[in-house]
Amino acid sequence: MTLTGINKALAREESKALKTTTGHSKPAAKKAGAKRIVMLDPGHGGIDTGAIGRNGSLEKHVVLAIAKNVRSILRSKGIDARLTRSADEFIPLYDRVEIAHKHGASLFMSIHADGFTNPSAAGASVFALSNRGASSAMAKYLSERENAADDVAGSKVKNKDHYLQQVLFDLVQTDTIKNSLTLGSHVLRQIKPVHRLHSKSTEQAAFVVLKSPSIPSVLVETSFITNPEEERLLGTTAFRQKIAAAIAAGVVSYFNWFDNHKAHAKRG
Ligand SMILES: [Zn+2]
Repeated sequence: MTLTGINKALAREESKALKTTTGHSKPAAKKAGAKRIVMLDPGHGGIDTGAIGRNGSLEKHVVLAIAKNVRSILRSKGIDARLTRSADEFIPLYDRVEIAHKHGASLFMSIHADGFTNPSAAGASVFALSNRGASSAMAKYLSERENAADDVAGSKVKNKDHYLQQVLFDLVQTDTIKNSLTLGSHVLRQIKPVHRLHSKSTEQAAFVVLKSPSIPSVLVETSFITNPEEERLLGTTAFRQKIAAAIAAGVVSYFNWFDNHKAHAKRG
């Protein structure tokens, strides 16, 4: 079974189960030639300040400014970039993933500037979902779907396609993680010339905001707000613009790779 086939099968299953539920929505179908939608997710917000620098900079403000810069750069390149939050408001983690699905996003990127206990920790890093995270995401996703399907269809149909769904889900998410890792490497390659890297390759962890089963998702730690020098940089328009330009270039480069990759797959 090809991945396209799997996606179709999964989409069929989803449209059955999700018609009238409030469960995890499937990404909106892309029309041919439709603009790509990039969901940018400025971390934290509202009562959740995120990390705090020694001079009192708040991560939630810094990352919103950077995300807005990324949005305008991507828009100037014809990509429909949107924000999960454009103001200082609190959004629960699972809602951020849900927002990306509702908008039919092609990719999801959470932007952070977290802290560490050691103030000498510095540099940018990019994370994708770990496979272990994927299996627990699957469990959550399936349990939500089952609960939702139960409400709509009653318990009779509940377990019928359970095994098939698990297999399909696993394959789709494995592919999504592969694309997330590729996206991460494109972003790191663009950041490298403009800022030091905390880790050279995409790291993997079980971040809740990365748990979309079908949308390639990465979390970018632009730098450490607890590092005095990086806190200073994060406060400057020049650095915010520089790091945003690198992130946007990484997204564009990923989309170019993706299109070439797909063209190859079709020919082969
Ligand atoms: Zn953060």
